[in-house]
Amino acid sequence: QFLITGYLRDIGQHVRTIQRTVNDMDDVLEFREADLQIADAPGARPIVVSAGRIEFDNVTFGYEGAGRALFRNLSVVIEPGQRVGLVGHSGAGKSTFVKLVQRFYDVQEGEILIDGQNVADVTQESLRHAIGIVPQEPILFHRSLAANIAYGQPDASAQEIETAAHLAHVDRFVAGLPKGYETLVGERGIKLSGGERQRVAIARAILAATPVLILDEATSSLDSESELYIRDAIERLSSGRTTLVIAHRLSTIRQMDRILVFDEGRIVEDGVHAELMARPGGVYRRLLETQMSTGEIVEAAE
Ligand code: ATP
Repeated sequence: QFLITGYLRDIGQHVRTIQRTVNDMDDVLEFREADLQIADAPGARPIVVSAGRIEFDNVTFGYEGAGRALFRNLSVVIEPGQRVGLVGHSGAGKSTFVKLVQRFYDVQEGEILIDGQNVADVTQESLRHAIGIVPQEPILFHRSLAANIAYGQPDASAQEIETAAHLAHVDRFVAGLPKGYETLVGERGIKLSGGERQRVAIARAILAATPVLILDEATSSLDSESELYIRDAIERLSSGRTTLVIAHRLSTIRQMDRILVFDEGRIVEDGVHAELMARPGGVYRRLLETQMSTGEIVEAAE
C-alpha cells in the first residue's frame, strides 16, 4: 500500500511538473501551426497594413493528402473595416479560411492579399503583428492578469491595460479580486471560466490594436450574462477594424456588416442577416432554425 501511495505521489508530482512546463511553453505553442508549415520567401518584406482590405483572388486550396481541394477558385473581397461573420456547418471551411489569411498554409493556386500584398510574399512575423487573434479557447499564462492582457505589448502602461480591460468587461470580475490585476492566473491563482478567459483575450486584442482581427467564438455554452458581455466586447473591439468572426452561435452575428455562409468550401450566401433570413430554404436560415429548435439560441428570428 505504501508503495502505491508513493507511486501516486510521484505521479502527482510529475503531473504538476508537466503542467508547469506546459504553462511555460504557452508562448511557444501559440504559433506552432504556422511555424511548422511555412517559411518566409527569399527577400520577404514586412507587410504594411493600414486599411485592412482582404482579398481572396481565385484561390484553390486543399489539405495535403485530402484528395480533393476544399476551396476551388474562391474569390471574395472583404472591405476595410468590415465586420464579417463566417458561418456554416462543421467542416464547411470557416477555420481554413481564416488560417489562410494568416498563411498557416500556402495555397495551390491564386493569391490572398491584404491591402494588395500577397501574404506569401511578406514576413510571417509582420503578418502576425498585423492580425489580432481571439481564439476559441484562449491560452492564458501562469502570470498576473495584467501580464496576460499585456502579452505581446511589454511597453503597455497600467492605465492602457486597465482601459482595455474595461472595454472588454474584464473589470467586472477583477473588481472582486483582492489583488486586482496582479492576481495570478492558473495554477494556485484564479481559475477563470471560458467566457472570462475570452474576455481577457479580447482585452489583449484591444491593446494590440491590429488593423485586422480574427475571432473564433467559443462554442461552449455561456451563461447569458457572459454572452452579453462578450458580444458587447466584440462590438467594441471590432469597431473600425476589419474583423472576421467565426460564429458558432448565430445570435452573435446579427449586427455584422456582412455574413458569409460556407458550405463544402464554397461561399453559398453573402449578405446581412435580414437578407439571408429572407431566403426560404437558404442555408443560413436553416442553420438558424436548427439552432433555435435545439435551444442553442433563444431569440426569435426576425
Ligand atoms: P468547424 O465549425 O467544425 O470548426 P470549419 O467550417 O471551420 O468547421 P474547417 O476546420 O475549415 O471547417 O475544415 C474544412 C475541411 O478541411 C474539413 O473537411 C476538415 O476535416 C478538413 N481539415 C481541417 N483541418 C485539416 C488539416 N489540418 N488536415 C487535413 N484536413 C483538414
